[in-house]
Amino acid sequence: MATLGNRRNTAEIIEKYHFCFQKKFGQNFLVDSNILDKIIESAQITKQDCVLEIGPGIGTMTQRLAEEAGEVIAVEIDKNLIPVLHDTLSAYNNVTLINADILKLDLNQIVEERGGNAVKVVANLPYYITTPIIMALFEKKVPLKSVTIMVQKEVADRMQVGPGTKDYGALSLAVQYYARPEIVARVPASCFMPKPNVDSTVIKLTRYEKPLVKAENEAWLFAVIRASFNLRRKTLVNGLANAGNLGVNRKQVEEVLTEMGLAVTVRGETLTLEQFADLSSRLWQKCSHTI
Ligand code: SAM
Repeated sequence: MATLGNRRNTAEIIEKYHFCFQKKFGQNFLVDSNILDKIIESAQITKQDCVLEIGPGIGTMTQRLAEEAGEVIAVEIDKNLIPVLHDTLSAYNNVTLINADILKLDLNQIVEERGGNAVKVVANLPYYITTPIIMALFEKKVPLKSVTIMVQKEVADRMQVGPGTKDYGALSLAVQYYARPEIVARVPASCFMPKPNVDSTVIKLTRYEKPLVKAENEAWLFAVIRASFNLRRKTLVNGLANAGNLGVNRKQVEEVLTEMGLAVTVRGETLTLEQFADLSSRLWQKCSHTI
């Protein structure tokens, strides 16, 4: 089987299997071997690693991962791609192919069945579910070493910016709570087949052994963060007091902000992760939380 990751061989496979791209699955296959090299290199895969690939497509990256890793688990939702993958991956005996929706799989169980060692996630993600996938990996505490992923450029920017910038929000804080983000490569739309409407970025998230800040209760911290960004151009007090799920009132939020030395007119997008952790811990102690 010829190596994929270029336009000609990808087109050949598409034609051989009369494959029809499904927009609803975010199918844009990578056809640039330089970008592929960068992803593989930055993921720093060794034979000791088990790699989880989300959405292998026709197996372009899977072939490279299989060469570098001890084991690859590839999860593909589109059943029409399974015969293609059996063909393109026939030379490798270290790939387990799972035909499933990644958001419905019990990833903890899959990792546990393999001895529980932390895995490396490497993927060119389907863009329509990028955030749910990342949040599920972190919030469900799947044992992870790192997550090296291709995402829409704007999403990568949101993951790595700090307070006071227009892209800063709940995703930035959630990602930076769990991991250190690092941009690996900017990828123009022309590197994919078919060409998407957006440019992409490869970003690597290296998981911290333990989160950088201490939260009284993680679920509560993230509920507070989400509520703080719900009403983006409103004050933090309004966002939190209007969040039906938190059970905090205006007075309590104002008291906490004053204790922290912050103005009661402050907006969520100016607070650092440390300040959110402090704010949520103080609110936790002050109110009869509902989460
Ligand atoms: N890895 C291939 C590549 O780089 O050329 C394909 C990447 S393509 C952007 C995204 C892939 O994810 C597609 O193969 C698509 O069918 C698959 N996919 C979409 N939604 C999925 C889901 N919920 N679970 C698993 N795979 C999914």
